[in-house]
Amino acid sequence: WKNAPENLRALMTLARTHGTREFVIYESERVTYAAFHRAVARLAVELQARGAARGDRVALAMRNLPEWPVAFFAAVSIGAICVPLNAWWTGGELAYGLADSGTSVLICDAERWDRIAPHVADIPTLRHVFVSRGEPGTLAGGAERLETLIGAPATWADLPDADLPNVPIAADDDATIFYTSGTTGNPKGALGTHRNLVTNIFSSAWNAVVAALRRGEVPPDPVPRTMLTVIPLFHVTACSAGLMGAVAAGHTLVYMRRWDPVQAFQVMERERVNVTGGVPTIAWQLLEHPARAQYDLSSLEAIAYGGAPSAPELVRKIRDEFGALPSNGWGMTETMATVTGISAEDYLNRPTSCGPPVAVADLRIMSEDGARELPAGEVGELWARGPMVVKGYWNKPEATAETFVDGWVRTGDLARLDAEGFCYIVDRAKDMILRGGENIYSSEVENVLYDHPAVTDAALVGIPHHTLGEEPAAVVHLAPGTSASEAELQAWVAERLARFKVPVRVLFTEDTLPRNANGKILKKDLKALFEREPERL
Ligand code: ATP
Ligand code: MG
Repeated sequence: WKNAPENLRALMTLARTHGTREFVIYESERVTYAAFHRAVARLAVELQARGAARGDRVALAMRNLPEWPVAFFAAVSIGAICVPLNAWWTGGELAYGLADSGTSVLICDAERWDRIAPHVADIPTLRHVFVSRGEPGTLAGGAERLETLIGAPATWADLPDADLPNVPIAADDDATIFYTSGTTGNPKGALGTHRNLVTNIFSSAWNAVVAALRRGEVPPDPVPRTMLTVIPLFHVTACSAGLMGAVAAGHTLVYMRRWDPVQAFQVMERERVNVTGGVPTIAWQLLEHPARAQYDLSSLEAIAYGGAPSAPELVRKIRDEFGALPSNGWGMTETMATVTGISAEDYLNRPTSCGPPVAVADLRIMSEDGARELPAGEVGELWARGPMVVKGYWNKPEATAETFVDGWVRTGDLARLDAEGFCYIVDRAKDMILRGGENIYSSEVENVLYDHPAVTDAALVGIPHHTLGEEPAAVVHLAPGTSASEAELQAWVAERLARFKVPVRVLFTEDTLPRNANGKILKKDLKALFEREPERL
């Protein structure tokens, strides 16, 4: 790690040294690291020329195009704060993110601009927009085509080679505002620093070293790999956990226009992809798709995911059916991704764990009131500390004071640590079901449902009960061609868990369960399914 970058500008300078290695492949477009660096250097100058300066918010709203990392690194290299917005948001939601962050410059694709343009009156700070792959229309102040400034990806290699503008950046300078997924409430902007982001480069690499040493093996040198990114870059899992490590190591990233398992198989075969994943649902969809056998996926070495609870059986299936290494990591927007990591034998032996903390992080389990640290084995709120924890929420002093305490982030997740320090997430505090004084952790019941041969997707939610407060109810999706009845699944759980944990209702869905852009089951929506059910007594 002689050239260890301490900020994102330094990381970009490191990227330049990967030269003619391919950086991004998107459909028929192929961009080398040298071309990537040229486009970033040019756009950084153009941003400065339009008045973007240190601390200004430069928002990014586009699908996973090669322009995404260019815009990201151009903004952070001049000291601006990049605000990656959820590309799945509606025009109104995007306008909320832009106004909340006080964005002055927006870089977006034409599809997003069509959605945002009707709302510009609600975004008083917006001065300038760069539109990629489409017409910019008009905006008082300025609207330009991004290609006019930096050209299309195929021409980036022809831009003049140039250094990045010389802007001094300290590791603790603000770099990003990523919005939380909004699973439990309104999305909150998490204000991340350069250090928060670059920490990811070391945590994942270091975890692989530690895991190899634990197995008594010599840690392998990092080798450039081809990685298929199928989850959106506006989520920290894809950006800070994926993109940062890739740029540092010189990996080749393959982006897809939209998620589709068959297209993923095609691109994995064609580009000899070594690593993919992102969130557990993606891994499931790859495993279960009937077309899988028609493709040569022998290059695949690992399927890595995190960001949401996963079925324990996924771990062994990835090994057995793909011959690939499964790996999982826990993190949140407030930690800019990775805090724990687990893979290979460690994970196969503990399929319900998300691993020990990465070397630079500390975890502890606290009592609900935050006053007492609980011993190994007990369930309480997970608190995390380390250089990946963000400064706080953007413009939300109260939420910041509640969540960030003495360098620790109170995660809102309920978890336990075992004697060796492996972490097991059992539920979100907000999702835990309290049935007449008894705690029911969703993951325990969901994992038992997943063990049933027919069940491939399951979620437990609390539904109101007039005397008990809440009761558990399940929504499940069955594998194609299988069947199971409500009574059968209730009996299955009753044989394995205490009576009070057995779902009082089981609903079956045709599709897999509804999830947000970051792969999280929308439990609020599932609860609504039961509200529509006839009154039970
Ligand atoms: P909001 O905070 O707006 O309600 P969110 O918490 O879903 O949304 P993120 O920051 O994207 O937003 O997600 C972090 C959460 O995702 C964690 O708190 C945890 O509940 C869940 N999570 C992340 N990684 C894992 C994992 N490996 N296993 C289980 N749950 C995970
Ligand atoms: Mg959260």
